[in-house]
This record gives sequence, C-alpha cells and structure tokens, in this order.
Amino acid sequence: MEEIVVVSGKGGTGKTSIVGGLISVVEDKVIADCDVDAPDMYIILDPEIEKKMEFTGGRFPVLNQDVCINCGICEEKCRFDAVHTLGDETIINNYRCDGCGVCSRVCPVNAIQMENQVQGYWYISKTRFGKFVHAKLGIAQENSGKLVNFVRAGAKDQALKKNAKYIIIDGPPGVACSTISSITGVNKAVVVVEPTLSGIHDAKRILQIIKGFKIKPGIIINKYDINQEMSLEIEKFADSEGISILGKIPFDKAFIEGIIQKKTIVEYNREKYYPIFSEIWEKIL
Ligand code: SF4
Ligand code: SF4
Repeated sequence: MEEIVVVSGKGGTGKTSIVGGLISVVEDKVIADCDVDAPDMYIILDPEIEKKMEFTGGRFPVLNQDVCINCGICEEKCRFDAVHTLGDETIINNYRCDGCGVCSRVCPVNAIQMENQVQGYWYISKTRFGKFVHAKLGIAQENSGKLVNFVRAGAKDQALKKNAKYIIIDGPPGVACSTISSITGVNKAVVVVEPTLSGIHDAKRILQIIKGFKIKPGIIINKYDINQEMSLEIEKFADSEGISILGKIPFDKAFIEGIIQKKTIVEYNREKYYPIFSEIWEKIL
C-alpha cells in the first residue's frame, strides 16, 4: 500500500480540486482529508457518514463554582490570560486556555479539575469514489497534528480491510504541525504551486520540509497560464533541484462550476481532464 499526499505551500492554490481530479482516475484507493482545520473535500465527495468518532486531543480545566472561593490565585498564575474573575464568579475562557494545568495545581481548594474534552470529530464515510476518512476540528481547538494521525490511521485501516493499493491524502496548506503529520512516513508527496511570487516562495518552504523527510516530491503547476513567465521560473527551479513537473493545469472556470455541482473536474469535463489527470497519475507512479 502506498500513501500519496498532496500539499501546497499556502491556501487557495486549488489543491483540493487537484486531489478531486486524481481520485477520479485512480482505482483501488482510500481517500483521506487531512486538512482538519478547514476541510473541504467533503463538498465534492458528498459523503455518507458511516462512523463518527470523538477526538479528545488534550485535557482542559473544569471549574466547580460551588467549591471556588474566588481567591484570584488561578487568574494571577495563568500565563495565557484565560482566567478572569467577574464579580463574584471566576470564569475560564476555553478559547484562550492552553491546557497547561497550572490553575488546577495552584487552586487551594481543588476547585479545578483537568478533564478530557472533545476537540473535534473524525469520520469514516462512503462515497462514489470509495471509502473516505475525514475530520473536523472544533473552533479555536488545537492538536490538529494529532487529529491528522487519527485520520491517517483510520485511512490505513480501511485500506487494509479493502486491500486497497493507494491512500490519497489531501494535506493541509502551509507548514503547520498538521502538515508535518500529513507528510511523515508517506511514500510520495505532490506539491501544488501557483505561478505567483508568494506561491513560489511558500512552495520552496514546503519542498524543504519534504526533502527533510527524504521523500522525493513532484510539482503540479496549477493555473500555469495566468503567469507563463512565473511558470517557467518554477520549471527552471524544479529542474535545478531535480524535481519532476508532474503536470500543468490551466486556469479554468470549470473547476468552480464543478464544485458548485459537487463534481470533480474529471466528472465535470471528462473529455478534457481525464487524459490530463491520468498522465499526472502515471508520472506520480
Ligand atoms: S490550564 Fe493553564 S492556560 Fe488553561 S486556564 Fe489553567 S492556567 Fe490558564
Ligand atoms: S484558585 Fe481555585 S478557588 Fe481560587 S479563584 Fe481559582 S478556582 Fe477559585
């Protein structure tokens, strides 16, 4: 079984649309959406959820107002400005809280207990393209890297059960810890790059990380025709680094029109895009 991750140096490069094109031409696969902070693969896949699992990524303080004597010690000691005394009540702001546990340790009357909290959910779903493992992290919740590990483990489990040859991972944009978790241990990494100055700059950062994991990356230039000169720059850079250009996708409103109709680009315009994505897949292999 091979894991292939598709990432981008920044958001808005059209990475998920590219993954949509790939899953339309690859047989024998499980799909994983590891962009757990802002998942959008489900929009195209329209999944039927079969299993929903809680994700408890860390322990957070729960304050018992009946025991609290409003001494203010926890407010004073919290380094994250997450505790405030309002009138005769002490309140913890979970959106600021880091889960460090200091408040619980300094409380003279044991009014604060650290408890596991549901930070999000992960799902196993059925789609017209096969099994799909995805997740959603709660608002302002952290530990996205850990949630990615759950999604990847779930996808691996599904792939083993179905004897699938490939796991196609839609990775997060940027270089946060969820990206590192998405890349670690994969067999191949595909970087989607847009031909803009910031696009190239951010792509170089992610390529550096991939290189650090000793994984050989390939590049797909998306919307290559919006700036042919910059696309040429990317090709020259790739050549100098020994990185393959797997494909060049033109700017095409069909991508957006397809998403509106919950279709991958290959479903939306098979005649034009099936050969393009089949060729990209061949090069990936
Ligand atoms: S767990 Fe840490 S960050 Fe959260 S409220 Fe307590 S002291 Fe502040
Ligand atoms: S340290 Fe304990 S008793 Fe004092 S304000 Fe905080 S929760 Fe209440």
